[in-house]
Amino acid sequence: MEGNVYEAIVVGAGPSGSSCAMLLARKGFKVLLIDKEDFPRDKPCGDAVGGKALSVLAELGLEAQLSKKGFLRSSGLIFSSPDGNEVEIPLLFEGKEISGGFVCRRSDFDDIVFQNAKKMCKTLESTEVVGVIFDAGRAIGVKAKGASGSEGNYYAKVVIGADGVNSVVARKGGCLVADPKHYASAVRAYYSGIRGLRGNIEVHFIPESMPGYFWIFPLSKSEANVGVGMLLSEIAKKKVNLHKVLEQCVKSKKFEGRFASAKLEGTVKGWSLPLASSRRKCAGSGFVLLGDAASLVDPFSGEGIGNGMKSAVIAAEIIGAALKRGEVTLADCQEYERELWREIGSDVDYSYTMQKVLSHGWMLNIAIGKAKKSVWLRNELAGMIASREAKKKARDPLFYLRMLLA
Ligand SMILES: Cc1cc2nc3c(=O)[nH]c(=O)nc-3n(C[C@H](O)[C@H](O)[C@H](O)COP(=O)(O)OP(=O)(O)OC[C@H]3O[C@@H](n4cnc5c(N)ncnc54)[C@H](O)[C@@H]3O)c2cc1C
Repeated sequence: MEGNVYEAIVVGAGPSGSSCAMLLARKGFKVLLIDKEDFPRDKPCGDAVGGKALSVLAELGLEAQLSKKGFLRSSGLIFSSPDGNEVEIPLLFEGKEISGGFVCRRSDFDDIVFQNAKKMCKTLESTEVVGVIFDAGRAIGVKAKGASGSEGNYYAKVVIGADGVNSVVARKGGCLVADPKHYASAVRAYYSGIRGLRGNIEVHFIPESMPGYFWIFPLSKSEANVGVGMLLSEIAKKKVNLHKVLEQCVKSKKFEGRFASAKLEGTVKGWSLPLASSRRKCAGSGFVLLGDAASLVDPFSGEGIGNGMKSAVIAAEIIGAALKRGEVTLADCQEYERELWREIGSDVDYSYTMQKVLSHGWMLNIAIGKAKKSVWLRNELAGMIASREAKKKARDPLFYLRMLLA
């Protein structure tokens, strides 16, 4: 039993879990990081690593390692509307470059974060957490099963659930709520030989993809992560098959030319996205949840890496201070939950508003058509990507009036 006792156990070594394990270990705590897969491992994703994740990578000191790999930096955003208009928004705000992030296969990105965590804490790969051990209602450890089928119990002052959308820790802690309005589903594929890739993140609201969007996120000058995503409630209502929708988007009139000599590399893979608009409970006695396990995916863009890594930073700060005092109380775990929403709540509210407003094809036609013609509107939209203050305008009816008049 002695060898199985830690100060913190982190379940799941994706970007959220590995970041948190690394930050806690760096503070000098004895951390166990467990994942059911062997690294490097794949995770179906659009592979776009945005500005929020970049700030955490800087805090982790991993920017240089990632830059060395030469992943393609995003230079701007392209949006298109159902009526065929297209607008390019350079990542510039008040004349300065906005940190737009980069596109990088998750098998590479996650492995870099995980290998750095591995240098600082005890890690178990190919080990699945099958249960959470509770004592008088408080999480005190986990039950895990190794590749050989052998089971072991591991104990700690806190269990940190970063085990993704089907989180065992969230389920055992009574935090999973299956509301299809707050889940999306998406499929992604890798294509080589695509024409017209210019380093822009491309988000296309075309008739074939509505009420979701078709994305093209470039990995190089000819290769991209291509996918389509939609709210689960819409998929169920309209009985949508996302694999078919992706095929239709690639073969659509707008894109058939760009994909004429493109080749599908590997298979098309799908996964669910738990959206932050649900504001689910993400802490309890002896445990906290991070990233997808806490349902933190941005409800408009579908980005989850940024909020996941941000939740890791907040948890490491609050749990780290509690461990220093000697124990992690329920009040500490609840403080994490409050601080998390103080930090990301307004961004999530903005994105939820955008998701609702832009679910209407006519609204997208107006917004993208106007942005194509108006420098003022393009600057406003770039500002909303760059600044929290500017995002608040999305909830101001006057902004939409000005947009109509632009
Ligand atoms: C198709 C698609 C496209 C997306 N595109 C983007 C994008 O472009 N940009 C973006 O920012 N986000 C995107 N997302 C969301 C993003 O992928 C997730 O939000 C992100 O992976 C969350 O990271 P995480 O560390 O919280 O969880 P994960 O990355 O899911 O990691 C969880 C880890 O836990 C492990 N695990 C699970 N269960 C157990 C268990 N019982 N025991 C032990 N280990 C376990 C898993 O093996 C995994 O390694 C997309 C999602 C999908 C589905």
